[in-house]
Amino acid sequence: MNGYNFLFEIYGVRGSYPIAPSEGTKIGGNTTCVMARTPNQVVILDAGSGIIPLGKKLVPEILAHQKEHNEAFHITIMFTHTHIDHLLGLPFFAPIYMPQVHLHLIGPPTVGVSFEEILRTQVLPQYFPLTMDEFRSQKSFYNLSENLFLYFNEDDTLPHIGDVRTDSIETGNFRIHTMKYYFHPKDGSFLYRVEWNDKKIVFATDIEGYQGGDHRLIQFAKNADLLIHDAQYTEEQYHQFCGYGHSSFTMACDAANQAEVQKLLLFHHDPNNDDKALFEIEKKAKKLFPNTELAKEGWQLRW
Ligand SMILES: [Zn+2]
Ligand SMILES: [Zn+2]
Repeated sequence: MNGYNFLFEIYGVRGSYPIAPSEGTKIGGNTTCVMARTPNQVVILDAGSGIIPLGKKLVPEILAHQKEHNEAFHITIMFTHTHIDHLLGLPFFAPIYMPQVHLHLIGPPTVGVSFEEILRTQVLPQYFPLTMDEFRSQKSFYNLSENLFLYFNEDDTLPHIGDVRTDSIETGNFRIHTMKYYFHPKDGSFLYRVEWNDKKIVFATDIEGYQGGDHRLIQFAKNADLLIHDAQYTEEQYHQFCGYGHSSFTMACDAANQAEVQKLLLFHHDPNNDDKALFEIEKKAKKLFPNTELAKEGWQLRW
């Protein structure tokens, strides 16, 4: 018994680069990584340094699966975009070294380069001791584009890719819908809406808010149970870094209010903001949208 039918867990919350402050941090120092799963279907969003501790946690489950079943252990990793803070953990993700694992790697081509080629470039001999083909897991690569979504049929561990133009958007009971967001350098990023039965979690990192709110985002996140929104900056920092592709916490609260979500988590914390500064942001944000918290490593939602 796993104690859940659906689990959502956060493994990395920082933007830009990982930190390990000497005074410690209650929020976490790893870059972007979250997991959404059922007992036998595993989806990871982004492979920032947070995917490293997640990988270590999955190893015993993969070994037990191998003993019981004579079939691959499927793990899907979807990437919002391929900036380095969202990729850097992948070569250190323990399951990538395991032959009994089948990784389904899904992400956007960027400035004309295919997603597979971007991942292969990251581990060329100039940058890493092993190339992509030397990692022992099986790997499938998919270019993500608008209109595509991921779904699982009940109890089937293999992910499927649907197209909103030809398939029902309610295929399967665990699915991930996508939305391309254009305001992030230089080729945008993807937002994800994780749906499990009638529950919805929207993952909206590496986005810069628009004045008065972005109506596409508000529609995409409408009535979600949880919105995780980029909130890299204080208002003062935003004025300095306007155009860098990240939001202030007030933009996150604005989106949460307009989309009428149940709960907001502030995400992609600036590595220059220490815990004290982050708790100050949280306090101010609660005044704008009361059910707000800072995203923290280890934060979980179970259904
Ligand atoms: Zn980022
Ligand atoms: Zn980015």
